[in-house]
Amino acid sequence: MGDDFDVIVVGAGMAGTSAAIRLAQGGANVLLLERGAEAGSKNLSGGVLWGNDLARILPNWATEMPVERHLVRKRFGFLTADSAVSFDFDDGAWRARPYVAHTVLRARTDAWLTKKAEEAGATVVTSVPVERLNWEGTRVHGVVQGGEKMTAPVTILADGTNSRLALGTPIRPEPRLSGESTELGIKEVYRLDAGRIEERFSVGPGEGHAEEWVAGLFPPGVMGGGFLYTNQDTLSVGLILSIPSLFGRGVYSHDLIEQFRQHPAIAARLKGAELVEYGAKLITGGWAGRPSAFSGDGWMVAGDAAGFVFSNGIVIQGMNYAVRSGLEAAETALAARSAGGATAARLAEYEQRLERTGILGDFRGFEAMDRVKWNPRIYTAYPKFAAELFRAMMTERGAPKEHLYRLARRAQVAAGLSMRSLAKDGFDLVRGL
Ligand SMILES: Cc1cc2nc3c(=O)[nH]c(=O)nc-3n(C[C@H](O)[C@H](O)[C@H](O)COP(=O)(O)OP(=O)(O)OC[C@H]3O[C@@H](n4cnc5c(N)ncnc54)[C@H](O)[C@@H]3O)c2cc1C
Repeated sequence: MGDDFDVIVVGAGMAGTSAAIRLAQGGANVLLLERGAEAGSKNLSGGVLWGNDLARILPNWATEMPVERHLVRKRFGFLTADSAVSFDFDDGAWRARPYVAHTVLRARTDAWLTKKAEEAGATVVTSVPVERLNWEGTRVHGVVQGGEKMTAPVTILADGTNSRLALGTPIRPEPRLSGESTELGIKEVYRLDAGRIEERFSVGPGEGHAEEWVAGLFPPGVMGGGFLYTNQDTLSVGLILSIPSLFGRGVYSHDLIEQFRQHPAIAARLKGAELVEYGAKLITGGWAGRPSAFSGDGWMVAGDAAGFVFSNGIVIQGMNYAVRSGLEAAETALAARSAGGATAARLAEYEQRLERTGILGDFRGFEAMDRVKWNPRIYTAYPKFAAELFRAMMTERGAPKEHLYRLARRAQVAAGLSMRSLAKDGFDLVRGL
Protein backbone atom coordinates (compact mmCIF):
# COMPACT_ATOMS: atom_id res chain seq x y z
CA MET A 1 0.00 0.00 0.00
CA GLY A 2 1.19 3.51 -0.73
CA ASP A 3 2.09 6.11 1.86
CA ASP A 4 -0.42 8.60 3.28
CA PHE A 5 1.76 11.59 2.33
CA ASP A 6 4.97 12.42 0.46
CA VAL A 7 6.34 14.31 3.45
CA ILE A 8 5.23 14.75 7.08
CA VAL A 9 6.49 17.87 8.85
CA VAL A 10 6.27 17.95 12.65
CA GLY A 11 5.99 21.42 14.19
CA ALA A 12 4.46 24.57 12.70
CA GLY A 13 7.16 27.00 13.82
CA MET A 14 9.33 28.98 11.40
CA ALA A 15 11.20 25.86 10.24
CA GLY A 16 8.15 23.63 9.78
CA THR A 17 5.91 26.17 8.06
CA SER A 18 8.68 27.25 5.67
CA ALA A 19 9.36 23.61 4.78
CA ALA A 20 5.66 22.86 4.29
CA ILE A 21 5.11 25.90 2.03
CA ARG A 22 8.08 25.02 -0.19
CA LEU A 23 7.06 21.36 -0.38
CA ALA A 24 3.48 22.20 -1.31
CA GLN A 25 4.69 24.75 -3.87
CA GLY A 26 6.88 22.00 -5.32
CA GLY A 27 3.85 19.74 -5.77
CA ALA A 28 4.41 17.40 -2.81
CA ASN A 29 1.54 16.00 -0.78
CA VAL A 30 2.59 17.34 2.61
CA LEU A 31 1.12 17.03 6.10
CA LEU A 32 2.06 19.65 8.69
CA LEU A 33 1.31 18.62 12.29
CA GLU A 34 1.28 21.07 15.20
CA ARG A 35 0.59 20.29 18.84
CA GLY A 36 -0.72 23.78 19.68
CA ALA A 37 -4.38 24.63 19.14
CA GLU A 38 -3.10 27.30 16.75
CA ALA A 39 0.30 27.62 15.12
CA GLY A 40 2.39 30.06 17.12
CA SER A 41 0.42 29.61 20.33
CA LYS A 42 3.28 27.55 21.83
CA ASN A 43 6.08 29.72 20.48
CA LEU A 44 8.13 32.13 22.46
CA SER A 45 10.50 34.43 20.71
CA GLY A 46 12.10 37.72 21.58
CA GLY A 47 11.25 38.67 18.10
CA VAL A 48 13.89 40.14 15.77
CA LEU A 49 13.59 38.30 12.48
CA TRP A 50 16.74 38.82 10.41
CA GLY A 51 17.33 38.03 6.80
CA ASN A 52 15.26 37.65 3.77
CA ASP A 53 15.10 33.86 3.45
CA LEU A 54 11.31 33.89 3.37
CA ALA A 55 11.44 35.77 0.05
CA ARG A 56 12.44 32.48 -1.59
CA ILE A 57 8.92 31.15 -1.03
CA LEU A 58 6.90 34.29 -0.34
CA PRO A 59 8.33 37.21 -2.36
CA ASN A 60 5.99 39.73 -0.69
CA TRP A 61 6.28 38.40 2.85
CA ALA A 62 7.68 41.64 4.28
CA THR A 63 4.64 43.65 3.22
CA GLU A 64 2.02 40.92 3.70
CA MET A 65 3.12 39.04 6.82
CA PRO A 66 1.97 40.62 10.10
CA VAL A 67 5.38 41.97 11.13
CA GLU A 68 5.60 44.55 13.90
CA ARG A 69 8.26 47.17 13.02
CA HIS A 70 11.33 47.28 10.79
CA LEU A 71 14.55 47.89 12.70
CA VAL A 72 16.29 51.21 12.18
CA ARG A 73 18.49 51.09 15.27
CA LYS A 74 20.27 48.65 17.53
CA ARG A 75 21.70 49.48 20.92
CA PHE A 76 24.20 47.38 22.79
CA GLY A 77 25.37 48.10 26.30
CA PHE A 78 26.40 47.20 29.82
CA LEU A 79 24.20 47.63 32.87
CA THR A 80 25.34 47.77 36.46
CA ALA A 81 22.92 48.28 39.34
CA ASP A 82 23.04 52.05 38.93
CA SER A 83 24.55 52.78 35.53
CA ALA A 84 24.17 52.08 31.83
CA VAL A 85 26.86 52.38 29.16
CA SER A 86 25.65 51.81 25.64
CA PHE A 87 26.40 52.27 21.94
CA ASP A 88 23.78 52.91 19.29
CA PHE A 89 23.98 51.85 15.70
CA ASP A 90 21.51 53.85 13.66
CA ASP A 91 21.77 53.11 9.98
CA GLY A 92 20.29 55.01 7.05
CA ALA A 93 20.53 51.84 4.97
CA TRP A 94 18.23 50.06 7.43
CA ARG A 95 15.51 52.60 6.61
CA ALA A 96 15.42 51.54 2.96
CA ARG A 97 13.60 48.52 1.52
CA PRO A 98 14.16 45.64 1.61
CA TYR A 99 14.45 46.07 5.36
CA VAL A 100 17.17 44.03 7.04
CA ALA A 101 15.18 42.99 10.09
CA HIS A 102 11.70 43.16 11.58
CA THR A 103 10.35 42.67 15.05
CA VAL A 104 7.70 39.97 15.05
CA LEU A 105 5.27 38.30 17.43
CA ARG A 106 5.15 34.60 16.73
CA ALA A 107 1.47 34.07 17.47
CA ARG A 108 0.79 36.32 14.46
CA THR A 109 3.57 35.29 12.09
CA ASP A 110 3.25 31.55 12.60
CA ALA A 111 -0.53 31.62 12.13
CA TRP A 112 -0.02 33.59 8.89
CA LEU A 113 2.69 31.22 7.63
CA THR A 114 0.46 28.24 8.41
CA LYS A 115 -2.34 29.84 6.39
CA LYS A 116 0.13 30.28 3.52
CA ALA A 117 1.05 26.57 3.78
CA GLU A 118 -2.64 25.67 3.48
CA GLU A 119 -3.09 28.03 0.53
CA ALA A 120 -0.12 26.37 -1.18
CA GLY A 121 -1.85 23.00 -0.77
CA ALA A 122 -0.42 21.53 2.45
CA THR A 123 -2.68 19.67 4.87
CA VAL A 124 -2.34 21.36 8.24
CA VAL A 125 -3.63 19.73 11.41
CA THR A 126 -3.30 21.49 14.76
CA SER A 127 -3.86 20.17 18.33
CA VAL A 128 -1.86 17.08 17.36
CA PRO A 129 1.03 16.36 19.72
CA VAL A 130 2.93 13.72 17.75
CA GLU A 131 3.87 10.94 20.19
CA ARG A 132 6.78 9.39 18.38
CA LEU A 133 8.42 8.66 15.09
CA ASN A 134 7.37 5.45 13.39
CA TRP A 135 10.67 3.52 13.38
CA GLU A 136 10.89 0.48 11.13
CA GLY A 137 14.32 -0.86 11.97
CA THR A 138 16.71 1.99 11.19
CA ARG A 139 14.20 3.76 8.96
CA VAL A 140 11.69 6.45 9.98
CA HIS A 141 8.41 5.81 8.22
CA GLY A 142 6.16 8.67 9.33
CA VAL A 143 4.82 9.29 12.82
CA VAL A 144 2.56 7.78 15.45
CA GLN A 145 -0.15 9.74 17.21
CA GLY A 146 -3.00 8.43 19.33
CA GLY A 147 -1.90 4.90 18.49
CA GLU A 148 -2.34 5.56 14.76
CA LYS A 149 0.39 5.59 12.16
CA MET A 150 0.65 8.25 9.49
CA THR A 151 3.21 7.28 6.91
CA ALA A 152 5.46 9.14 4.49
CA PRO A 153 8.84 8.35 2.93
CA VAL A 154 10.22 11.54 4.50
CA THR A 155 9.57 13.07 7.93
CA ILE A 156 10.98 16.48 8.78
CA LEU A 157 11.44 17.10 12.49
CA ALA A 158 10.88 20.78 13.12
CA ASP A 159 9.59 20.38 16.66
CA GLY A 160 11.76 23.00 18.31
CA THR A 161 14.49 23.20 20.89
CA ASN A 162 13.33 20.41 23.20
CA SER A 163 12.65 18.03 20.30
CA ARG A 164 11.20 15.07 22.20
CA LEU A 165 10.69 12.96 19.10
CA ALA A 166 14.42 12.63 18.53
CA LEU A 167 15.35 11.95 22.12
CA GLY A 168 16.51 8.42 22.92
CA THR A 169 16.53 7.53 19.22
CA PRO A 170 19.56 7.27 16.90
CA ILE A 171 18.91 10.93 15.99
CA ARG A 172 19.67 12.12 19.51
CA PRO A 173 20.56 9.22 21.79
CA GLU A 174 21.43 11.47 24.76
CA PRO A 175 19.65 14.56 26.10
CA ARG A 176 21.48 17.72 25.16
CA LEU A 177 20.46 19.65 28.26
CA SER A 178 23.90 19.65 29.67
CA GLY A 179 26.08 22.16 31.45
CA GLU A 180 27.13 25.38 29.89
CA SER A 181 25.17 25.07 26.67
CA THR A 182 21.80 25.29 28.42
CA GLU A 183 20.19 28.68 28.74
CA LEU A 184 16.87 29.94 29.98
CA GLY A 185 15.01 32.45 27.84
CA ILE A 186 12.36 34.57 29.53
CA LYS A 187 10.13 36.92 27.64
CA GLU A 188 7.37 39.31 28.63
CA VAL A 189 5.19 41.39 26.33
CA TYR A 190 3.85 44.76 27.50
CA ARG A 191 1.13 46.74 25.80
CA LEU A 192 1.94 50.39 25.13
CA ASP A 193 0.33 52.85 22.77
CA ALA A 194 2.17 53.05 19.39
CA GLY A 195 2.54 56.84 19.70
CA ARG A 196 4.21 56.50 23.08
CA ILE A 197 6.57 53.84 21.76
CA GLU A 198 7.59 56.13 18.92
CA GLU A 199 8.13 59.05 21.30
CA ARG A 200 10.05 57.05 23.92
CA PHE A 201 12.28 55.22 21.45
CA SER A 202 12.70 58.10 18.97
CA VAL A 203 11.39 56.16 15.99
CA GLY A 204 8.88 57.02 13.29
CA PRO A 205 5.67 55.13 12.51
CA GLY A 206 6.55 51.57 11.50
CA GLU A 207 10.17 51.99 12.61
CA GLY A 208 11.63 49.85 15.36
CA HIS A 209 14.40 49.87 17.92
CA ALA A 210 16.10 46.85 19.52
CA GLU A 211 18.49 46.86 22.44
CA GLU A 212 20.54 44.18 24.14
CA TRP A 213 22.37 44.51 27.43
CA VAL A 214 25.05 42.62 29.30
CA ALA A 215 23.25 42.36 32.62
CA GLY A 216 25.91 43.26 35.19
CA LEU A 217 23.25 44.11 37.76
CA PHE A 218 22.46 40.65 39.11
CA PRO A 219 23.89 38.98 42.24
CA PRO A 220 27.55 37.95 41.73
CA GLY A 221 27.94 34.83 39.65
CA VAL A 222 24.58 35.11 37.87
CA MET A 223 25.26 35.45 34.14
CA GLY A 224 22.86 36.72 31.54
CA GLY A 225 21.77 39.39 29.12
CA GLY A 226 18.59 41.38 28.69
CA PHE A 227 16.69 42.63 25.67
CA LEU A 228 14.03 45.21 24.88
CA TYR A 229 12.37 45.29 21.45
CA THR A 230 9.66 47.54 20.07
CA ASN A 231 6.60 46.00 18.42
CA GLN A 232 3.71 47.92 16.87
CA ASP A 233 1.87 48.59 20.14
CA THR A 234 3.73 46.31 22.52
CA LEU A 235 7.24 45.92 23.89
CA SER A 236 9.09 42.60 24.19
CA VAL A 237 11.29 42.45 27.28
CA GLY A 238 13.36 39.49 28.32
CA LEU A 239 16.45 37.78 29.61
CA ILE A 240 18.75 35.02 28.41
CA LEU A 241 20.32 33.39 31.48
CA SER A 242 23.01 30.75 31.94
CA ILE A 243 21.19 28.00 33.86
CA PRO A 244 24.27 26.65 35.71
CA SER A 245 24.95 30.19 36.96
CA LEU A 246 21.58 30.20 38.75
CA PHE A 247 22.19 27.00 40.72
CA GLY A 248 22.83 27.28 44.44
CA ARG A 249 22.52 31.06 44.51
CA GLY A 250 18.98 31.29 45.84
CA VAL A 251 17.91 33.47 42.92
CA TYR A 252 14.68 33.20 40.95
CA SER A 253 14.23 34.14 37.34
CA HIS A 254 11.13 36.25 38.09
CA ASP A 255 13.17 38.39 40.51
CA LEU A 256 15.91 38.81 37.92
CA ILE A 257 13.55 40.01 35.21
CA GLU A 258 11.93 42.35 37.73
CA GLN A 259 15.40 43.75 38.53
CA PHE A 260 16.09 44.23 34.82
CA ARG A 261 12.74 45.95 34.23
CA GLN A 262 13.24 48.26 37.19
CA HIS A 263 16.67 49.44 36.13
CA PRO A 264 16.32 53.20 35.46
CA ALA A 265 17.55 52.77 31.86
CA ILE A 266 14.70 50.32 31.17
CA ALA A 267 11.93 51.40 33.56
CA ALA A 268 11.44 54.86 32.03
CA ARG A 269 10.45 53.31 28.69
CA LEU A 270 8.11 50.76 30.29
CA LYS A 271 6.23 53.26 32.43
CA GLY A 272 2.47 52.73 32.20
CA ALA A 273 2.83 49.63 29.99
CA GLU A 274 0.59 46.67 30.82
CA LEU A 275 1.83 43.05 30.96
CA VAL A 276 -0.06 40.93 28.41
CA GLU A 277 2.10 37.82 27.98
CA TYR A 278 4.78 35.89 29.81
CA GLY A 279 6.79 32.82 28.85
CA ALA A 280 10.01 30.95 29.58
CA LYS A 281 11.87 28.37 27.55
CA LEU A 282 15.11 26.41 27.60
CA ILE A 283 17.57 27.13 24.81
CA THR A 284 20.05 24.43 23.88
CA GLY A 285 21.50 25.43 20.56
CA GLY A 286 24.87 25.87 18.98
CA TRP A 287 27.31 23.33 17.63
CA ALA A 288 27.28 21.48 20.96
CA GLY A 289 23.51 21.06 20.61
CA ARG A 290 23.55 19.39 17.19
CA PRO A 291 22.01 15.94 16.70
CA SER A 292 24.06 12.84 15.81
CA ALA A 293 23.27 13.56 12.15
CA PHE A 294 21.06 16.03 10.28
CA SER A 295 19.42 13.35 8.15
CA GLY A 296 19.07 9.59 7.89
CA ASP A 297 16.81 6.98 6.38
CA GLY A 298 13.44 8.72 6.07
CA TRP A 299 14.18 11.77 8.22
CA MET A 300 15.72 15.24 8.40
CA VAL A 301 16.00 17.68 11.32
CA ALA A 302 15.55 21.44 10.90
CA GLY A 303 15.52 24.63 12.98
CA ASP A 304 15.96 24.56 16.76
CA ALA A 305 15.48 20.79 16.76
CA ALA A 306 18.83 20.62 14.94
CA GLY A 307 20.44 23.09 17.38
CA PHE A 308 20.37 25.94 14.83
CA VAL A 309 20.02 28.73 17.35
CA PHE A 310 22.87 31.16 17.75
CA SER A 311 23.17 32.78 21.14
CA ASN A 312 26.13 34.67 22.57
CA GLY A 313 24.47 35.35 25.88
CA ILE A 314 23.03 38.66 24.71
CA VAL A 315 21.92 38.30 21.10
CA ILE A 316 19.85 35.33 20.06
CA GLN A 317 19.11 34.40 16.46
CA GLY A 318 17.25 31.28 15.46
CA MET A 319 14.29 32.23 13.29
CA ASN A 320 16.51 33.00 10.28
CA TYR A 321 18.25 29.62 10.62
CA ALA A 322 14.91 27.89 11.13
CA VAL A 323 13.52 29.30 7.88
CA ARG A 324 16.67 28.55 5.89
CA SER A 325 17.12 25.01 7.19
CA GLY A 326 13.39 24.28 6.72
CA LEU A 327 13.68 25.40 3.11
CA GLU A 328 16.80 23.30 2.52
CA ALA A 329 15.09 20.23 4.01
CA ALA A 330 12.15 20.83 1.66
CA GLU A 331 14.44 21.22 -1.37
CA THR A 332 16.21 17.98 -0.44
CA ALA A 333 12.91 16.09 -0.16
CA LEU A 334 11.68 17.49 -3.49
CA ALA A 335 14.95 16.57 -5.24
CA ALA A 336 14.83 13.04 -3.78
CA ARG A 337 11.24 12.65 -4.95
CA SER A 338 12.12 13.72 -8.50
CA ALA A 339 15.13 11.38 -8.49
CA GLY A 340 12.88 8.40 -7.75
CA GLY A 341 12.60 8.13 -3.97
CA ALA A 342 13.88 9.25 -0.58
CA THR A 343 16.86 7.00 0.06
CA ALA A 344 19.16 7.81 2.98
CA ALA A 345 21.85 8.72 0.44
CA ARG A 346 19.57 11.22 -1.29
CA LEU A 347 18.51 12.79 2.02
CA ALA A 348 22.19 13.12 2.95
CA GLU A 349 22.23 15.89 0.34
CA TYR A 350 20.56 18.00 3.10
CA GLU A 351 23.84 18.29 5.01
CA GLN A 352 25.61 19.48 1.87
CA ARG A 353 22.90 22.09 1.42
CA LEU A 354 23.35 23.19 5.03
CA GLU A 355 27.04 23.63 4.27
CA ARG A 356 26.45 25.51 1.02
CA THR A 357 24.00 27.94 2.61
CA GLY A 358 26.45 28.71 5.42
CA ILE A 359 24.41 27.34 8.31
CA LEU A 360 26.88 24.69 9.42
CA GLY A 361 29.79 27.07 8.82
CA ASP A 362 28.21 29.63 11.17
CA PHE A 363 27.75 27.14 13.98
CA ARG A 364 31.08 25.40 13.55
CA GLY A 365 32.85 28.74 13.19
CA PHE A 366 31.38 30.15 16.38
CA GLU A 367 31.91 27.05 18.49
CA ALA A 368 34.60 28.88 20.46
CA MET A 369 31.97 31.51 21.33
CA ASP A 370 29.99 28.77 23.06
CA ARG A 371 32.92 28.44 25.45
CA VAL A 372 33.69 32.12 26.07
CA LYS A 373 30.21 33.58 26.36
CA TRP A 374 29.71 32.36 29.90
CA ASN A 375 32.91 33.88 31.29
CA PRO A 376 31.79 35.36 34.67
CA ARG A 377 33.97 38.49 34.18
CA ILE A 378 31.81 39.56 31.22
CA TYR A 379 28.86 39.91 33.59
CA THR A 380 30.65 41.47 36.57
CA ALA A 381 34.04 43.04 35.93
CA TYR A 382 33.44 44.42 32.41
CA PRO A 383 30.16 46.24 33.16
CA LYS A 384 31.87 47.72 36.21
CA PHE A 385 34.92 48.69 34.17
CA ALA A 386 32.71 50.41 31.56
CA ALA A 387 30.74 52.25 34.25
CA GLU A 388 33.86 53.42 36.12
CA LEU A 389 35.60 54.56 32.94
CA PHE A 390 32.65 56.48 31.52
CA ARG A 391 31.80 57.98 34.90
CA ALA A 392 35.34 59.33 35.12
CA MET A 393 35.31 60.57 31.52
CA MET A 394 31.85 62.11 31.54
CA THR A 395 31.83 63.81 34.94
CA GLU A 396 33.40 67.27 35.34
CA ARG A 397 34.59 67.62 38.93
CA GLY A 398 36.44 70.94 38.77
CA ALA A 399 39.75 69.06 39.22
CA PRO A 400 42.68 68.70 36.79
CA LYS A 401 41.83 66.43 33.87
CA GLU A 402 43.54 63.09 33.41
CA HIS A 403 44.50 61.25 30.27
CA LEU A 404 42.38 58.38 29.06
CA TYR A 405 45.08 55.82 29.77
CA ARG A 406 45.17 56.74 33.47
CA LEU A 407 41.38 56.73 33.70
CA ALA A 408 41.25 53.32 32.06
CA ARG A 409 43.89 51.92 34.40
CA ARG A 410 41.96 53.22 37.42
CA ALA A 411 38.70 51.73 36.12
CA GLN A 412 40.50 48.45 35.51
CA VAL A 413 41.72 48.31 39.12
CA ALA A 414 38.28 49.30 40.48
CA ALA A 415 36.71 46.51 38.42
CA GLY A 416 39.24 43.98 39.72
CA LEU A 417 40.53 43.18 36.23
CA SER A 418 44.12 42.00 36.11
CA MET A 419 46.24 42.54 32.98
CA ARG A 420 46.44 38.77 32.69
CA SER A 421 42.67 38.28 32.62
CA LEU A 422 42.31 41.21 30.19
CA ALA A 423 44.81 39.59 27.83
CA LYS A 424 43.21 36.16 28.17
CA ASP A 425 39.65 37.45 27.66
CA GLY A 426 40.75 39.57 24.71
CA PHE A 427 42.39 36.57 23.09
CA ASP A 428 39.36 34.32 23.74
CA LEU A 429 37.00 36.96 22.40
CA VAL A 430 38.98 37.47 19.21
CA ARG A 431 39.05 33.70 18.70
CA GLY A 432 35.34 33.39 19.52
CA LEU A 433 34.27 36.23 17.24
C1 LIG B 1 13.41 34.25 24.86
C2 LIG B 1 13.77 33.95 23.44
C3 LIG B 1 14.07 35.00 22.58
C4 LIG B 1 14.41 34.75 21.26
N1 LIG B 1 14.66 35.82 20.44
C5 LIG B 1 14.95 35.60 19.13
C6 LIG B 1 15.15 36.71 18.26
O1 LIG B 1 15.03 37.86 18.63
N2 LIG B 1 15.47 36.43 16.96
C7 LIG B 1 15.57 35.15 16.48
O2 LIG B 1 15.84 34.96 15.29
N3 LIG B 1 15.38 34.08 17.31
C8 LIG B 1 15.06 34.29 18.61
N4 LIG B 1 14.85 33.22 19.44
C9 LIG B 1 15.03 31.86 18.89
C10 LIG B 1 13.84 31.49 18.02
O3 LIG B 1 12.64 31.67 18.73
C11 LIG B 1 13.96 30.03 17.57
O4 LIG B 1 15.25 29.80 17.07
C12 LIG B 1 12.92 29.71 16.51
O5 LIG B 1 11.64 29.88 17.02
C13 LIG B 1 13.11 28.27 16.02
O6 LIG B 1 12.06 27.93 15.15
P1 LIG B 1 11.63 26.41 14.98
O7 LIG B 1 10.59 26.40 13.94
O8 LIG B 1 12.83 25.56 14.80
O9 LIG B 1 11.04 26.00 16.40
P2 LIG B 1 9.78 26.56 17.17
O10 LIG B 1 9.49 27.96 16.80
O11 LIG B 1 10.01 26.25 18.63
O12 LIG B 1 8.59 25.67 16.63
C14 LIG B 1 8.46 24.30 16.96
C15 LIG B 1 6.99 23.94 16.83
O13 LIG B 1 6.85 22.54 17.00
C16 LIG B 1 5.71 22.28 17.79
N5 LIG B 1 5.89 20.94 18.38
C17 LIG B 1 6.83 20.57 19.29
N6 LIG B 1 6.70 19.27 19.58
C18 LIG B 1 5.67 18.81 18.83
C19 LIG B 1 5.06 17.53 18.68
N7 LIG B 1 5.51 16.47 19.37
N8 LIG B 1 4.02 17.40 17.85
C20 LIG B 1 3.56 18.47 17.13
N9 LIG B 1 4.10 19.70 17.23
C21 LIG B 1 5.16 19.87 18.07
C22 LIG B 1 5.70 23.43 18.78
O14 LIG B 1 4.42 23.62 19.35
C23 LIG B 1 6.12 24.59 17.89
O15 LIG B 1 5.03 25.22 17.28
C24 LIG B 1 14.48 33.43 20.76
C25 LIG B 1 14.18 32.36 21.64
C26 LIG B 1 13.83 32.62 22.95
C27 LIG B 1 13.51 31.46 23.83
